[in-house]
Amino acid sequence: MARRKKIYEGKAKILYEGPEPGTIVQYFKDDATAFNAQKKDVIEGKGVLNNRLSEFFMTGLANIGVPTHFIRRLNMREQLVRSCEIVPLEIIVRNTAAGSMSKRLGIEEGTQLPRPIVEYCLKNDELGDPLVSEEHIAAFGWASQQDMDDIVHLALRVNDFLSGVMLAVGIKLVDFKIEVGRVYEGDFQRLIVADEISPDSCRLWDIETGKHLDKDVFRRDLGSLTDAYTEVAQRLGVMPRSNGATKPTLIN
Ligand code: C5P
Repeated sequence: MARRKKIYEGKAKILYEGPEPGTIVQYFKDDATAFNAQKKDVIEGKGVLNNRLSEFFMTGLANIGVPTHFIRRLNMREQLVRSCEIVPLEIIVRNTAAGSMSKRLGIEEGTQLPRPIVEYCLKNDELGDPLVSEEHIAAFGWASQQDMDDIVHLALRVNDFLSGVMLAVGIKLVDFKIEVGRVYEGDFQRLIVADEISPDSCRLWDIETGKHLDKDVFRRDLGSLTDAYTEVAQRLGVMPRSNGATKPTLIN
C-alpha cells in the first residue's frame, strides 16, 4: 500500500492527505499532554475513545444543522474529515468557573456562571495559547467581524447541544474548547466546527458526585484517564457497559 502523505502532526492527532481532494484523514494518537506539553504520557486506548466520541458529537451536531468537518469514521483510530483553513483561535465556552478562569480571576471552581462566557485564545504553542480579546482578533486580522459573529453563534449552539446531551446522562458540561475552519463554496466562505470534540477538550463533571470525567484526571493525577473516558462513552451508549474487557470495545 502506498504510504500516505503526512500533513501535520500535533500533540494528540496526525493529519494525512485524504483519498479525495478536499479531504483529510485525522488519526487519533494515544498521547496525552498538558500544560503546553510539559506533562506527557501515553494512555492506551485514548485515541480510540476520542475518535469515537468526536464522531458521536460531530454527527449529533450535523443532525441539528451545525456544520462540522466530520465526514465518516474510517476505523478505530481514524476519521475522514473535510479539509478547511483553521482559524488560529481556540474558542472556549464556560458554563461553570474552573481551570484557568478560576485561577486568573480568583473565582472558586464550581461557581455557576450567570450566563455562558465565550473566551478566545490565540493558537500558538510557543506563547502558550494566550487569552486574546475581540479587539486583538480584529486588529491583527485573525478573523473578520462576520467570522466572529458566526463563531459566537456556532460556539453557543455547540454549548446548548453538548450541555443537553451530557445532562441526559448525568454529566455537567463545565466548559469546552472548539476550533473552527473556513471552507469555500464558490464565492462564499463559511465556518464549520473542526478539530475534535472529546473529553480532551471539555470539562465534564458527574452531576451527583462531582467526579471529573475529562482530561483534568490526567492534568491533576486523579486516577485512570481511560476509565474516565470509558465511563463517558458508556453513559452515552457509544461503548457497551462493562463486559470484563479491559480495552475499549466499540459498539459499531
Ligand atoms: O485551561 P482552561 O480552563 O482555559 O480550559 C478551558 C477548556 O478548554 C477546558 O475544557 C480544556 O480542556 C479546554 N482546552 C483545550 N485545549 C487547550 C486549552 C483548553 O481543549 N489548549
